[in-house]
Amino acid sequence: MTIQAHQEAVTVEALINGQNVKSLSQSAKENPANPSEVVGYFPVTTKEQAVEAIEAAANAFKTWKKTSIEERVTRMRKAIEKIRAAENEIVHLLSREHGKPLYDAHGEIYVSLMWMEFTCNEAASALQEEIQEHEKGKTILSYDPIGVVAAISPWNYPIALSTIKIAPALLAGNTIVLKPSPYAPLAAAKVAEIIASEFPAGVINVVHGDAEVGVELTTNPHVTKIAFTGGTETAKHIIKAASDTIKDMTLELGGNDAAIFLESFDVNDERAMRRIVVSNFLTTGQICMIAKRVYVHRSIYDQFVEKYIEAANRWIRIGDPFDPNTTVGPVNNLKQKDYVLSLVEDAKQRGAKVIPLGQILDQKVFDQGYYLQPTLVLGCDAHDRIVVEEQFGPTVPILPFDDEEQVIGLHNESIYGLTSSVWGKEEDAILVARQLEAGTTMINTAAVQGLDVRFPFGGFKQSGIGREYGTEGIRTYTEQHVINIPK
Ligand code: NAD
Repeated sequence: MTIQAHQEAVTVEALINGQNVKSLSQSAKENPANPSEVVGYFPVTTKEQAVEAIEAAANAFKTWKKTSIEERVTRMRKAIEKIRAAENEIVHLLSREHGKPLYDAHGEIYVSLMWMEFTCNEAASALQEEIQEHEKGKTILSYDPIGVVAAISPWNYPIALSTIKIAPALLAGNTIVLKPSPYAPLAAAKVAEIIASEFPAGVINVVHGDAEVGVELTTNPHVTKIAFTGGTETAKHIIKAASDTIKDMTLELGGNDAAIFLESFDVNDERAMRRIVVSNFLTTGQICMIAKRVYVHRSIYDQFVEKYIEAANRWIRIGDPFDPNTTVGPVNNLKQKDYVLSLVEDAKQRGAKVIPLGQILDQKVFDQGYYLQPTLVLGCDAHDRIVVEEQFGPTVPILPFDDEEQVIGLHNESIYGLTSSVWGKEEDAILVARQLEAGTTMINTAAVQGLDVRFPFGGFKQSGIGREYGTEGIRTYTEQHVINIPK
């Protein structure tokens, strides 16, 4: 049974200086659950159009930077209301182009709006200038806008990872050129258009395409800040591309997040078991901060694996994203599916045992889409590719460890350091957590469940530079400007 009703394909255009701009060539975005269905069309923005978008943003900046924080917040709040009113339509589009189940797509809108609300509530105090009278005179510290922000987002959370940049950047007085990912360009473009409808022309511009357009955004001298979320390898190109013009950057990159279960963890805690399963397979495992490798103390390892399989088989129902029974949808694209398969195959070749998890709700749907049955990988080596690389898909290795020092070492030898989680008696878990190199460490839950937009989020090492969310996530779109008035 196919749940998704046929719907008309949508078309999005580039948005430059308040106008929709047609492109000579268009790309089609297929539905990962049914690749023969085109969900919509998006343009391939030319280099000339990208330059126009950047120049429009640079021009709009001259007046936008002078607006009051009250005006910016009022406009953003109106945009939030419009997104809320269009939520169902946006969620359906997101689910069809991305492959994430409807509940998950609603979750993405929920987090996006929560963050946008937070920025509206906090911007005035985060950006308030500080005046200090001191023995040498008076100092004014202001948070000035940086200029034109190139916001480049990935496909896995296309709306959340676009609005995470748009809201604080605009509230801080910057203008934006957004480039969503070609693997999920439609819903993000719709949301950006809704926001743009509440702002003056040129304050938000949207371009489409992949690396070619990205290169213009990251080299053009009018762009003064890059806000990028995506892969670590792409970030290396961006850093090189931006080096000639020394741009400010916030980079949110890959992760290979570990979940560590200490000897004191209670394997009979069903709620915790469900949490770890969800945090391995939500969004089909395609989340930067999902637990991608699980380490379990050897004394509880066998029981843990048994309980884990039971919990996974209860929660994982693989099906059509529009089926309300579905918890896990298809992988977003064929490239990603093949990559994940290659890692599982590599582990198998090296002698690992691969255990399929969950229930396939409809074999016909499964066969037609980019589906992968979730798997548990046991008996692999600590340095197998599936443990060391960011698999970004529905598979997870579970490995035993003997003592805390060993597991802390395994955690910290990764090139990544985005999030981590430690499970067990709280005092023991906090002691371990303090020694982990990660931007966020959760105790007895995982980052996908405990994400709190009030606190900064970002990575150690090759997981990124800078922070989003929290007050820091607003101030990151400013330059600190000191004005000294000596006595
Ligand atoms: P990606 O790096 O392939 O693409 C991200 C964006 O960069 C896309 O819009 C793409 O078109 C653009 N791009 C590609 N080449 C470019 C270039 N040379 N110059 C400028 N832009 C270029 O990443 P992806 O596959 O879309 O997303 C998955 C990755 O994102 C994973 O590694 C994941 O961990 C990471 N991610 C990180 C976070 C975080 O907060 N740390 C959040 C979500 C995803």
